[in-house]
Amino acid sequence: SGTLYIVATPIGNLEDMSPRATAILSRVSVIAAEDTRHSGRLLQYLGVRKPMVALHDHNERDKAGLVLDRLAASQDVALISDAGTPLISDPGYVLVREARARGFRVSPVPGACALVAALSAAGLPTDRFLFEGFLPSRQGARKAALERLSGESATLVFYESPHRIVETVREIERVMGGERELVLARELTKTFETFYAGPVGRVRESLEADPHGSRGEFVVMIHGASAEELTAGSVEVDRVLALLLTELP
Ligand code: SAM
Repeated sequence: SGTLYIVATPIGNLEDMSPRATAILSRVSVIAAEDTRHSGRLLQYLGVRKPMVALHDHNERDKAGLVLDRLAASQDVALISDAGTPLISDPGYVLVREARARGFRVSPVPGACALVAALSAAGLPTDRFLFEGFLPSRQGARKAALERLSGESATLVFYESPHRIVETVREIERVMGGERELVLARELTKTFETFYAGPVGRVRESLEADPHGSRGEFVVMIHGASAEELTAGSVEVDRVLALLLTELP
């Protein structure tokens, strides 16, 4: 039977496409892409002409069947997304899971991933990190998510859309305080690649002051809670417990 290749594509700079990734795209029978118009431009740049099927979050269950039929017919298929590594806050999970369940070979062709690129250059601890994808878009849910994570000691990593970045940084400041170390990686591998780093309050100020600050794509990284913050947290828990004990019958 065929092989399903999970192929990473660039996150901005087209030269990040690896020769092997291009070779695999030229070799497969069909390319499953999140947005065929968008990926069509990349394929044209690479000089690859292939039939494509659209596979996005809304139709993945239906379209996965088409891809599985191809694999069953001994055809190789490549999955790509709009940018970076498929399945990392991108479609593909349903397909990969189903392909593996049916015993097909699934093989990664690694390349750009905004999460790893951002973390590798941020200067924050990388021995342990927690990737949370996109925070919820509703303000209440976003605040609750940040509160749940504020005591986490691993480095926190999020993806964020450009129109919400300032709001999200303000929310981080409200929940975790202005002193927590924050790094924003903006427009990685592109002409206007920028890192904003420092205490949350200062990063918020420079973002607000920069007319281009909220343009482009961002990876948000927060230093994990320090030992002092964790102790402060447990002191708070002790206080609440003591209070509860006095109130309980
Ligand atoms: N699968 C992709 C990957 O491997 O990085 C991520 C797809 S997700 C739908 C898109 C988000 O990734 C953006 O909102 C942004 O948070 C992040 N991102 C993608 N490209 C980026 C870049 N060049 N610079 C900074 N962040 C980027």
